[in-house]
Amino acid sequence: MRKKIVAGNWKMNTDIREGITLAKEVNRLIAENHVSYTTVILSPPFTHLTEIVKSVNLNRISVSAQNCSSEPKGAFTGEVSANMIKSTGCTHVIIGHSERRTYFKEDNFLLNKKVKHALQNDLIPIFCIGEILKEREEGKLFEVVKTQLEEGLFNLSREEFSNVVIAYEPVWAIGTGITATPLQAQEMHAYIRKLIAEKYDAEIAENTSLLYGGSCNAGNAKDLFSQADIDGGLIGGASLKADDFYKIITSF
Ligand code: PEP
Repeated sequence: MRKKIVAGNWKMNTDIREGITLAKEVNRLIAENHVSYTTVILSPPFTHLTEIVKSVNLNRISVSAQNCSSEPKGAFTGEVSANMIKSTGCTHVIIGHSERRTYFKEDNFLLNKKVKHALQNDLIPIFCIGEILKEREEGKLFEVVKTQLEEGLFNLSREEFSNVVIAYEPVWAIGTGITATPLQAQEMHAYIRKLIAEKYDAEIAENTSLLYGGSCNAGNAKDLFSQADIDGGLIGGASLKADDFYKIITSF
């Protein structure tokens, strides 16, 4: 059975003291309320990873990086490799977030290299895909998402692919306060699952966790997560407040 997952993408927010406080607060809420049916992931900046790993109960919370290098090691000033991330105690890494695609011009081929490095280092990639508003308005949303999957993931072996989590994040919904309706999100999630079944098989498709991201919050998470093909969320802004994040975690 596929996992229910709620992952908090802190982006470039919190200094290390604030990050530890936030992680400990999420940890406390989860422990006190015995939440065990959802995989909870915190994704702080690189600088915080080691401390956040130490601050939470790793049986209840997993820690993720927000990006990794496409190269394994060497003269790449400022880069952080999958192996380095793994050595902090992280288990996941977000790859292909729309902010990386837009501001850092990361394309599907580069992202595919990152996915492979992550998998080689035993990290679970949370691979982000999604269309921009113009593409949706022009009716190209399915085509765009299909290409992102084909170029970014579909050269993985069946075994490799079974370790990937996918986040559908319509770019027009990220950080805008405009959320995809549950039906819009479900429609795309069902389409993604169909593509996975066609490329691999029905079993893999059934077992792949598909997360929704884009202005998901404590008020709308329940409606989104109740959709048949939505297995949780990748949460930006609302993951920076422990209480809100906790409400989302318990929205299944
Ligand atoms: C994100 O950054 O992945 C995201 C979904 O952000 P927000 O929830 O703030 O829209």
